[in-house]
Amino acid sequence: MRRIYLDHAATTPTHPEVVKAMLPYFTDAFGNPSSIYSYGQEAKGAVEEARTKVAELIGARSEEIVFTSGGTEADNFALKGVAYANEDKGNHIITTSIEHPAVLEVGKFLEKRGFKITCLPVDRYGLVEPDDVRKAITGKTILISVMHANNEVGTIEPVAEIGRIAGEAGICFHSDAVQTVGHIPVNVDKLKVDLLSISAHKLYGPKGVGALYVRKGTKLVSLMHGGEQEKRRRAGTENVPSIVGLGKAVELAGQAMGKEAERLAYLRDRLIEGLGEKIDHIRLNGHPTRRLPNNVNVSVDFVEGESMLLNLDLEGICASTGSACSSASLEPSHVLLALELPAEQAHGSLRFTMGRENAEADIERVLEVLPGIVARLRAMSPLLKTPR
Ligand code: PLP
Repeated sequence: MRRIYLDHAATTPTHPEVVKAMLPYFTDAFGNPSSIYSYGQEAKGAVEEARTKVAELIGARSEEIVFTSGGTEADNFALKGVAYANEDKGNHIITTSIEHPAVLEVGKFLEKRGFKITCLPVDRYGLVEPDDVRKAITGKTILISVMHANNEVGTIEPVAEIGRIAGEAGICFHSDAVQTVGHIPVNVDKLKVDLLSISAHKLYGPKGVGALYVRKGTKLVSLMHGGEQEKRRRAGTENVPSIVGLGKAVELAGQAMGKEAERLAYLRDRLIEGLGEKIDHIRLNGHPTRRLPNNVNVSVDFVEGESMLLNLDLEGICASTGSACSSASLEPSHVLLALELPAEQAHGSLRFTMGRENAEADIERVLEVLPGIVARLRAMSPLLKTPR
């Protein structure tokens, strides 16, 4: 059976060119970048080349890029790093109710240690209101963290407007751009961010590597202490092959981005339209237009997302319900609840996220099999009182 992967927000397949670029750094060019002889300098050169590529894609300077073990570490570094570096100035952090757990759980951690967290609500499309951010600022606010686009519903947030508000108030501004870098244009100056999180495996790079953009002059406490790597901002021998992989992935994403976003948006719109035509009692979650080009998130009434997911899997189609991190749990997604969806609708959600290997035939296949799955499940559903 042909497998159709439609879960690119969870992770992407590593691009063959990325694998090819990484391989020499496991074998021939295995040096430690801190060694001054040629093996080391070769590895150091590769790390610096990757740093330049990441910086170029987001309009930053290469010395403003710190490599991390992924998006989660970048988010942790941004929040804990700013919180502990500014303890003398204040203890208030503003974020939103739809952030990834890599931000929300750090907020809870900091709350137990004396910081105050304001978690702003979103509207029914998942949008944060910039004026809410402005109103939440107090004399003690040291950090604002608002994601660039949501990983579940794909809503693209008004980050530049929020960045302007943060800048005017002189408050550090972080954005989790794990779902946007390499997919839609990201420019740190246009978005007016001081810190920005990146993850390689969401843009056809390897897992376990990412980066945090740190605007020059931003005060951050390090999470990792030890050697002098990353200008003392993150100790530990660099993961050279993965960093090279991130650099290559970013380079390829930069070349493909405009056309690919257009192609994916076409597939997205075709899927949204087709689902609406073929399945009744279905609604789109997230914003109708301000959404990632590859994201379709729907709620199907009277059926469980998990049941649809398992039945799609039997047909070789991989999608998700809620976010990847919580798809093993039966708790309704915190993002859908924040959009004020009733719990049953949150439970009946399905997310399809398309990527470079998908073609229109994959969308047509979903449209061919999903209506039958929904009809079968509804016929058995205790959620539907009158069987259809
Ligand atoms: N932030 C967002 C918005 C994400 O979607 C993810 C991954 O699902 C992360 C952070 C975590 O990134 P990583 O898997 O690289 O730790």
